[in-house]
Amino acid sequence: MSDTTRVYSYSAVLMGSPILLKLFSHDEALASRVFRLIKQYEDLLTVNRAQSQVMDINHAAGLRAVVVSSPVYSLIKCAKAASMLPDSAFNLAIGPLVKRWRIGFRGDTVPPVEDIVRLLALTDPRQVVLNDAEQSVFLTKAGMEIDLGAIAKGYIADRVRDYLRKEGVVQGLINLGGNVQTLGTPEGGWSIGLKKPFSTSASMIGTLEIANKSVVTSGVYERFFEHNGQIYHHILDPRTGYPLNNELDSVTIVSENSIDGDIWTTLMYGMGVEKGCAALRARPDIEAIFVTKAKEVVLSSNHHYRFTLLDKDYRLTGSTV
Ligand code: FAD
Ligand code: MG
Repeated sequence: MSDTTRVYSYSAVLMGSPILLKLFSHDEALASRVFRLIKQYEDLLTVNRAQSQVMDINHAAGLRAVVVSSPVYSLIKCAKAASMLPDSAFNLAIGPLVKRWRIGFRGDTVPPVEDIVRLLALTDPRQVVLNDAEQSVFLTKAGMEIDLGAIAKGYIADRVRDYLRKEGVVQGLINLGGNVQTLGTPEGGWSIGLKKPFSTSASMIGTLEIANKSVVTSGVYERFFEHNGQIYHHILDPRTGYPLNNELDSVTIVSENSIDGDIWTTLMYGMGVEKGCAALRARPDIEAIFVTKAKEVVLSSNHHYRFTLLDKDYRLTGSTV
């Protein structure tokens, strides 16, 4: 972006996350409408309060199906499809384990193994029964809980993009605490920072230049606690019930839609660098940036963005570098 371009930034805290909206004209009323839209989706989808449409489904687990609104139904359907992919690390029914660990919500102890085993039995995504005709969702066992924490921000970022477009905005950016969605190409493109894991300052490993794309980052350093020298973070392995433990510190996905970015960060977390890069060969529309604990930055490909490495402690590798 050139220095002469005036950018107007608006911020809020919603979904327990810092929200940032960037526009190229001063429009406080539009910013308020955007924040209201995000709040409406939060009210439908949150599992951090006693009541929401998703909590209505969870409260009725083992009892009955619950009819929900179209956006909630379509998002749950999409989350179930991602959960049913072969060897998927994504699981929309992970709720009982997320609530037990409480990582990011002052949880700082490792639950007893009996608890993990008992709760794992309540996380089978096939037991989330969908009825398209009724738009209803039924969790077949008492104690089951849907958690859309790994996908809802992506879905909402896309809805904000659509809303801004409808309002005639040609250039803008929304950041929902790690889910960035952009409209248009400002002069020089959008420059998005890739955060340095576990850094206390706002240090960046590098920057991505993009246009009309979403950038979603998921990292083990966002919500975690440390116990006996081990890091326990908030992305759980649905196969074991414990945080996913592999070579990765973070995964960033560049894609058109932020919902894909959100789903694929979790899928990539489950696969790791090698399998992840192989899987992405079939998806030229989805590109990943892996940051490893060994301080490597691996690009699965970079056809839709330009990456600049800033931190010389990191080494850049990848098929197209
Ligand atoms: P991602 O990697 O995209 O997702 C990680 C999250 O997904 C975990 O926190 C967990 O919720 C879930 N998850 C863990 N493992 C898996 C798995 N294997 N498969 C699928 N999902 C998994 N935070 C607050 O502190 N307070 C709030 O009141 C609050 N309200 C929220 C309301 C809404 C509607 C949403 C979407 C989020 C809210 N959050 C809140 C944040 C939320 O708790 C998560 O921290 C956040 O969604 C994680 O997003 P991420 O992009 O950092 O990580
Ligand atoms: Mg995600």
